[in-house]
Amino acid sequence: MEQPARNAQTRSSFQGPPALSDYDADALAAQFAGWGCKATHAARLLHAFYLGGGQVDLAALRLGKSVESHLGHDILLRQSHLITRSSSVDGTEKLLVGFGRGGAVESVLMPAHEPARAAGCISSQIGCAMRCDFCASTRGGLKRNLDAGEMVEQFLHLRHLAQSQNRRLSTIVLMGMGEPMHNLGNVMTAIRRIAAPGMGALGGRQITVSTVGIVPGMDELAAADLNVHLAVSLHAADDVTRSRIVPMNRRYDVGQIIAAARRFSEHTGRIVTIEYCLLKDVNDSDGQAQLLADLLQGFRTHVNLIPYNPIGVALSGAVYATPDASRIQAFYGILVGRGVVVHVRLPRGHDVNAACGQLRQSVRDDRSV
Ligand code: SAH
Repeated sequence: MEQPARNAQTRSSFQGPPALSDYDADALAAQFAGWGCKATHAARLLHAFYLGGGQVDLAALRLGKSVESHLGHDILLRQSHLITRSSSVDGTEKLLVGFGRGGAVESVLMPAHEPARAAGCISSQIGCAMRCDFCASTRGGLKRNLDAGEMVEQFLHLRHLAQSQNRRLSTIVLMGMGEPMHNLGNVMTAIRRIAAPGMGALGGRQITVSTVGIVPGMDELAAADLNVHLAVSLHAADDVTRSRIVPMNRRYDVGQIIAAARRFSEHTGRIVTIEYCLLKDVNDSDGQAQLLADLLQGFRTHVNLIPYNPIGVALSGAVYATPDASRIQAFYGILVGRGVVVHVRLPRGHDVNAACGQLRQSVRDDRSV
């Protein structure tokens, strides 16, 4: 059973009582029992809460006066609210979610390969400390880690929106703002709550954690046996190029990261995704495609080529550009020719600034942190 107490203590200094999203079924049952209320009501409440995407009709649940007197006081129903929602012409929806503890992040609902399904993108931190040069999310630095309940609530907002559009939230990626491996305890707790039976209607297999390549975190995630997928943001197969655009490469280099990705794959049986943001004249040459193919030789991966989404002037002062379609095609062709499984990721939500690396609106809304 999870103990919400640590969260509750941390948050009490900020804003008082914990929220339903801070509990798993066992912890809520224990809390109900402590109030002298039926423990079975806890599971009913939590199931209804998750099923409704965080909306729950307390009257219909008939939990009794005693439970009702505690809800909203000793346990909040929600600790976040929707600040804004922007809809893209391609079906992408960007939500700005504000937290009772302060600050806000963006969560994104994206079209999936089937119209009745949607994919969600969740943030793990407010801001980011990684300073990847081509990413807008890191510009204001790291403000704070999100706690597990705050990630659960992003999921619930996305689920509710998907439901209202007759779509099912069938996969989620921890690929929004932040580096999940630097907040791994809370990330894993959130995943356990969402993937628990009867809750988020998702298993570990429908969840992907994306990392810049924090080796100890990759090993810890593998050992946790959560059954999740791992995505590694590689962006270059050689250390000179990678260190230029991903400063964290000076801590964990390409060789160490690929070794950890192989360990993850061997331990979990999962195919690891390699993300590669294509930057014109930086990492998009034929030679760099060959290097990537060399690096991945004998390692079953899925490579996701992500054409750069322009963010203006980078932290270093550089102005990156997106390669032409013909260059992307050539890079792709070399990988395919070398037997690498590769996809080019379609840019989503450009018109609402919801595309990769553009989740920076929140930086404006987190002054209270
Ligand atoms: N810190 C984690 C998760 C957040 S970044 C990680 O590094 O994986 C999520 C993905 O968006 C990463 O693959 C990142 O490289 C990519 N990305 C960031 N900025 C981008 C941009 N401007 N254009 C295209 N992809 C970008």
